Amino acid sequence: MARKPMMAANWKMNKTVREAQDYVAALLPRAEDSEGVDIAVFVPFTCLHEVARMVEDSDVVAGAQNFYPEDSGSYTGEVSAPMLLDLGVGAVVVGHSERREIFGEDDELVARKTAKAIESGLLPVVCIGETKEERDGGQMWDKVSGQVKRVLEEVPDDVGGEQIVFAYEPIWAIGTGDTASPEDAQDAIGQIRDLLRDLKGDGFADSVRILYGGSMKPENVDEIIAQEDVDGGLVGGASLDVESFTALIGATQGSDWPVAE
Ligand code: PEP
Repeated sequence: MARKPMMAANWKMNKTVREAQDYVAALLPRAEDSEGVDIAVFVPFTCLHEVARMVEDSDVVAGAQNFYPEDSGSYTGEVSAPMLLDLGVGAVVVGHSERREIFGEDDELVARKTAKAIESGLLPVVCIGETKEERDGGQMWDKVSGQVKRVLEEVPDDVGGEQIVFAYEPIWAIGTGDTASPEDAQDAIGQIRDLLRDLKGDGFADSVRILYGGSMKPENVDEIIAQEDVDGGLVGGASLDVESFTALIGATQGSDWPVAE
């Protein structure tokens, strides 16, 4: 089964509304012919309303970087799925390593968020990955497989692979300039797909998209996305500049993509 690749920008805590407007205005004309690739921009809450409005009639999906898995209530500082849907948001990053490491999100909360996103009609991009110490200590697969299994415990059986995206993001490669080798990315993502095949069956494993994240940039994207099981990228630093993000989209789509002037 052919999976449609996805290229996703994670702006993290960057860009004012004005900067977001300039970026999206430059992105949209280039995204017009995006048949071969799904494009998502995960932007700060403060930009979401404007970005969702600007991309409304395009194939670009406006995404949030986080949400809380209750519909409403006494959760000061949090934002719910219905609030995101109200803005026209289509996707949400769940369990980014910065949320896990800096804000203490555990596997249980990540799993609840994933299930709630799916139930609400948001596409969750669920981040998983190991630290340098875990990799060096031979615990990479224990960590990553444990994260995947915990998420699946909360996901109802009838959910299809197209309703969830995983992003394998080795933590030591995020924002560091260090990238997993294409072989390491394939090795990890291939294992994740095999695990999903064991747990959820062929239909799920063949349709679920698994992205690579970790210092992806125009110079290394070709080799990484050429790997059989890598279905695109979740990109932080190199997505902040629209020219560089457009180059990543172009590489994902192939040579037909309109190139930046
Ligand atoms: C990320 O934030 O998900 C990420 C992969 O960041 P970077 O591309 O900067 O490593």
